[in-house]
Amino acid sequence: MSQITIAAPRTHGAAALTAALQQFDAAADHLALDGPLRTILRAPWREMTVHFPVTLDDGSVQLFAGYRVQHNVARGPAKGGLRYHPATDLDDVRALAMWMTWKCALVDVPFGGAKGGVACDPRGLSPKELEAITRRFATELEPIIGPDLDIPAPDVGTTAQTMAWIMDTLSRPRGTSRTAIVTGKPIELGGSLGRSDATGQGVVHTVADAAARIGLPLDGATVAIQGFGNVGEATARLLAERGARIVAVTDVGGGARNDAGLDIRNLRRSFEEHGTVAGAPGTRPITNGDLFALPVDVLVLAALEGQITAGNAGTVRARILAEAANGPVTPDADPILAANGVQVIPDILCNAGGVVVSYYEWVQNREGRAWTAEVVAERLERTMSQAAGAVRTRAEADGIPPRLAAQVIAVERVARATALRGGG
Ligand code: NAD
Repeated sequence: MSQITIAAPRTHGAAALTAALQQFDAAADHLALDGPLRTILRAPWREMTVHFPVTLDDGSVQLFAGYRVQHNVARGPAKGGLRYHPATDLDDVRALAMWMTWKCALVDVPFGGAKGGVACDPRGLSPKELEAITRRFATELEPIIGPDLDIPAPDVGTTAQTMAWIMDTLSRPRGTSRTAIVTGKPIELGGSLGRSDATGQGVVHTVADAAARIGLPLDGATVAIQGFGNVGEATARLLAERGARIVAVTDVGGGARNDAGLDIRNLRRSFEEHGTVAGAPGTRPITNGDLFALPVDVLVLAALEGQITAGNAGTVRARILAEAANGPVTPDADPILAANGVQVIPDILCNAGGVVVSYYEWVQNREGRAWTAEVVAERLERTMSQAAGAVRTRAEADGIPPRLAAQVIAVERVARATALRGGG
């Protein structure tokens, strides 16, 4: 079988796709995975691009581009978030779908990988416009999503409300409530206790694990965080509850710094009132560049991909870099961070808590049960700890960095499942 090539780099997402493919190739090389299996796993299985019109509040009609990519479904139905962001494009979604395949395999949930999104800026759209876009996109997705096919969840620019609209749009024509069609739903509609904080909670588990390895107590550790959304806010709050001192946070509107420690409720209030943490009372401004270079114990990247590159990796002074976002460090930055002794917690491990609890939500929906918050929390902690242990063991056994070890474990599992099914 010849190598499958993907459109030449020309977009924002091309860099992310190049990074995802480079990481896959490194794992495939390590596993000596060649021939058809390598070609199959390198390419997305199914892709959908749609252009759909939506009438905006001012009466004008705008055409939106929406995407869904299912990278691999050998281990189970496809799973992955929906992103509403102006830079969303097919290559970006391809990269994110591939990372979802590896993430689900690494934490051993029976899902394949997918991702989707709409190229739009949710900050410039009213709730009514967002609902119209979501309902229309949901009808376009209908043929390829479902509890046994592909189960979307929130990601950048989408929330539990977005999932509620999708569930309703796809349930109403059947006169039923198809709860298991999306995860990350509001609790009232079959969402799981613990899902909204799950990604941040998983980040905290992996940071605690990495900190313990270097003898760093979380109580009193200094932390800087890029991003204050679903993931960044929960991570900040939960780390502060463990006694960490959050000294700086940035978001798309700017940044807030206080070396004595930021009050996370204060940042939350500022975000709710002004849409940004910038300007929160009792804080000084800070840029992303300055945040990356702070001499903190832990740097958490919880915004977008491609933030730490070969160009700025040398400025990072944190002892631990937690990849709460997907793909925030480019492959050419990895050796620079390693040479400077920065311990990187790879994204497919660090932010896997979200998909783990999404899996619990899907199981609860299908069984018609609701687990307690304690059950969810205890299972999540066990799963994250097992995955972190497996990465450490593989890294030590093979003498490879944690990112490669995580990818190797995941690619090996997906390759085996794909081969067992006959290679297709
Ligand atoms: P979100 O939209 O809720 O938050 C994104 C945050 O990043 C916002 O605070 C935004 O202001 C900030 N941001 C955007 N551009 C920025 C910039 N240039 N500088 C600084 N901050 C900037 O999204 P989210 O769900 O929190 O996702 C964040 C990352 O985590 C993404 O990479 C996503 O794929 C990943 N992730 C999310 C989940 C989840 O459960 N939501 C799970 C796993 C991984």
